[in-house]
Amino acid sequence: MLVTMKAILLHAKENNYGVTAPNIQNEDMARAVVRVAEKCNAPMIIDINSWVHPDIPWLVNFCRDLAIRSTVPIAINLDHGKNYHDMILGIRSGFTSIMVDRSSLPYEENVAQTKEVVKMCHELNISVEAELGHVGQGEQYDTDGISNLTVPEEASQFIKETGVDCLAVAIGTAHGRYSGVPHIDFDRLAKIVELCPDTPLVLHGGSGTGDANLKKAVHSGIQKVNLATELVVAGRDTLAKFIQNPKFDKWELMPSFIKGYSDKLEHYVRLFDQADKAW
Ligand SMILES: [Zn+2]
Repeated sequence: MLVTMKAILLHAKENNYGVTAPNIQNEDMARAVVRVAEKCNAPMIIDINSWVHPDIPWLVNFCRDLAIRSTVPIAINLDHGKNYHDMILGIRSGFTSIMVDRSSLPYEENVAQTKEVVKMCHELNISVEAELGHVGQGEQYDTDGISNLTVPEEASQFIKETGVDCLAVAIGTAHGRYSGVPHIDFDRLAKIVELCPDTPLVLHGGSGTGDANLKKAVHSGIQKVNLATELVVAGRDTLAKFIQNPKFDKWELMPSFIKGYSDKLEHYVRLFDQADKAW
């Protein structure tokens, strides 16, 4: 069942669970994500970056077809739409949600550009995710992890001004691999939740953050957790083990990567109490 991301996140907020948003790159990964969702009877968000595939409209159309034929609710989100081109590509490709990431811009410009995307997308029943504060890169965690965290009062103001459906917040996570140990500012998260009681919140940089931190975040008001690096690394590790046997079956090579990727995703689905929440 193809649904908007807003529908999934409001359901998650109401029922106190988190939703994994795995980044996919191709047909095999898309199938794997839907298979895990169905196996766990869980709603699911497929995240796609505009630059990961040479034919995004084709990939989104493929995902839409999988979602429509699926027994569980599935949303398809354009991750980190950076500019006007990404927004148009997202709308034309058939995403059910678009992230408008203007988190590197000053507050006023972030508001102005996000507002414009919200206006257009809501006319088309497309959900919108924005980011306030800035989630940086794990390789520079020493600086990115602690700088530009979301200011709770600004978050509340931003939501009122833009009308976004969900908000990605910076509370100490980072994208990719952490260069140090992640410190999550749960007090800040609690304050954001208090001031933004009706809006689902998103955590980018789930990989490497640790089960305890992520589980706590989900039960402290985060509804969507983006996962990319850790799933791909799990796939690579399974594949690396598989090819150690010089007589490996060539047709099992790609599936071995997918097996590692899927098992790791399922781990998070169960960790976030997302299983058996499909409707
Ligand atoms: Zn991100």
